[in-house]
Amino acid sequence: MEPTLTSNEIHELGNRVMATPRLAEAYRSSTLRLYDHRLKAIAEVPGFDALRDRARELKREVITHLDYYVEQFATNFERLGGKVHWAADAREACEAVLGVARECGARQVVKAKSMVSEEIELNHALEAAGIRPVESDLGEYIVQLAHETPAHIVAPAIHKTRGDVSDLFQRYVDPQRAEEPEALTAIARRALRAVFNEASMGVSGANFAVAEAGTIVTAENEGNIRFSTTAPRVHVALVGIEKLIPRFQDLAIFLRLLGRSGTGQKLTSYTSILTGPRRPGEDGPEQMHAILIDNGRTRALADEKMREALYCIRCGACLNACPVYRKIGGHAYGWVYSGPIGALITPEFTGLAQARELPFASSLCGACREVCPVRINIPDLLLHLRARAQETLPAPKPPGSPVRERTAMRLWAWLMSSPRRYAWSARIARIGQRLAARSGWIGSSRLFPVSAWTHGRDLPALAARSFRQRWKNVESKGEDK
Ligand code: SF4
Repeated sequence: MEPTLTSNEIHELGNRVMATPRLAEAYRSSTLRLYDHRLKAIAEVPGFDALRDRARELKREVITHLDYYVEQFATNFERLGGKVHWAADAREACEAVLGVARECGARQVVKAKSMVSEEIELNHALEAAGIRPVESDLGEYIVQLAHETPAHIVAPAIHKTRGDVSDLFQRYVDPQRAEEPEALTAIARRALRAVFNEASMGVSGANFAVAEAGTIVTAENEGNIRFSTTAPRVHVALVGIEKLIPRFQDLAIFLRLLGRSGTGQKLTSYTSILTGPRRPGEDGPEQMHAILIDNGRTRALADEKMREALYCIRCGACLNACPVYRKIGGHAYGWVYSGPIGALITPEFTGLAQARELPFASSLCGACREVCPVRINIPDLLLHLRARAQETLPAPKPPGSPVRERTAMRLWAWLMSSPRRYAWSARIARIGQRLAARSGWIGSSRLFPVSAWTHGRDLPALAARSFRQRWKNVESKGEDK
């Protein structure tokens, strides 16, 4: 299934956010708040880094032997009475969900927050088949009413203000306008309660899938996932195959990392451990289905370097830490996954040509690597993708750059690609700067074409003698004179 936006429009979409003060402030303040919460939460845990090392090692183990763990999970899930469906791509995943929905006669489906359902565009597929999907996570519900995709992995409506939500609720849910968060939440709660009671099928994602037990684990704060997965007669879990963990005993490690890294919570408010459909005397769904989804994951697996991106537990910490995401927001990434992890997995899941620009949308400052609970070396993988893009795809036209800038860049590349040309150009620049340099600095607006740069900051002047000249001295006299 093709993404509805191209991720190569990142410049244009990012500029739109930066030019809208309300949006820019929403992203800035929310990400900083989450970032701050994380810092406080991890400071309370002695040995937090050791926990991260262990989690990384476990994910490495699973991803390296993914074939074994996927089979183990499927066998155990079916042993408990569930049904496993295999989906190579988004179309097959949607078909599998539609097949279950038709079988159980569902006209309405209640959905728990699931990034993989956004990835496969399940809502579109359900609507096209005449089945009404209703998001039950408050943020997702808001985003669905606004006909948008999530702007953040764990906070889908991070870009919406209270006023935006009031407008949406008044227009689509309850004509009686409400302003206060409590009143707005109550409106959503009333509307969703009816859906929980009526829907014959619930669809969720999976934060983790425990291979040794055939168990789906979900983590949340609102209770809507528990409701969506237990009240309807049928529960369908969408599971990206990288969500596996080996054993139950490993779960505690990941749960301790997930809440703290994402929102600064010790644990999310609800953790549900779903092991098969209901047995006699129990509550819960009569049927449980797991759709095991590839959709580009094995492509990442085939690249020994990129497979590290599959360690991700979707905590969202790298988004909150990223100076680029904070500025341009989630929708600028053009697809459902945003921020540093989006820049890695979108090219893998959709194809590099579709998302060629994303690996370049990073300052490589390393803030994402610092916060990642499974220590994914995101900057390193971004560089790897950049190299792949340069090697395998035609060079893109620099977005919006005028002819003058492109010509200057070509001239620069020509000069830099020959030691002789480089030496001559440095010599000429050294003569030219005599007019503008004072005490080792080129000050404000003195010299075109660098005047645009020096308008806001000083530029260090070129040294009087080049490194080559000094090196010659060192070699001939044994010292730098
Ligand atoms: S890459 Fe790391 S920090 Fe970013 S969402 Fe995934 S696990 Fe969290």
